[in-house]
Amino acid sequence: MEIHQSSKSQFRRWVSDLIGLLFPNLCNACGINLFRSEHLICTKCLYDLPFTDYHIHAENRVAKQLWGRTPFHAAMALLYFRKGAKVQNLIHNLKYNNKTDVGILLGNLLGERLKVSPIYQNIDLIIPVPLHHKKIRSRGYNQSAFIASGTSEKLDVIFNDSILTRNKATDTQTKKNRYSRYENMRGVFEVPDPEIIKDKHILLIDDVITTGATLEACAYALMDNGASKISIAALAFAE
Ligand SMILES: [Zn+2]
Repeated sequence: MEIHQSSKSQFRRWVSDLIGLLFPNLCNACGINLFRSEHLICTKCLYDLPFTDYHIHAENRVAKQLWGRTPFHAAMALLYFRKGAKVQNLIHNLKYNNKTDVGILLGNLLGERLKVSPIYQNIDLIIPVPLHHKKIRSRGYNQSAFIASGTSEKLDVIFNDSILTRNKATDTQTKKNRYSRYENMRGVFEVPDPEIIKDKHILLIDDVITTGATLEACAYALMDNGASKISIAALAFAE
């Protein structure tokens, strides 16, 4: 199964590398040719992106989804995620087509908003949601680390993708109820060196929020290991 998955992703990577060589300058959201002045996303797509403005609304839908489940200070997502829409194309290119620059660019847009948000102040450290090492091996990278890196540039706060580790590859989450999702995630995340996060306000970065179970488990692992405050920010929120 794993060999099959990994060869499939290698093939996908090979095809996208080939397309990238033949057509290097296409918009990662709509696929049209970019002008020389444009970078990764065309001007029209950038203008049309469905921004949530959740960074200025503490009681937003992401926060409400996580209320009562995990002790967090603030939670938001940059964009609305809809199937078949441009945000899905951007995230697909970031996750599966080696377009890690898209993660940095969207991380920049996220960081710019968090910087002016009264809710997201005094962050000490940025940590991306980790992938299991088998997944890193098949994909080649953790997409959330690139988002975190872009956010870090704009917030002027360091990010570190080795503080929180993922020790178990988990089953797919969608068919489980809330309790078994939580049970399924217990013990998945660990902090090998808790001293680094002691009394720190941590910004946890994810790509797309769906059930929130992964973020919940990450937040618990960080709080259990001495972090003082957790804030959450994702690129997109699946409605
Ligand atoms: Zn476009």
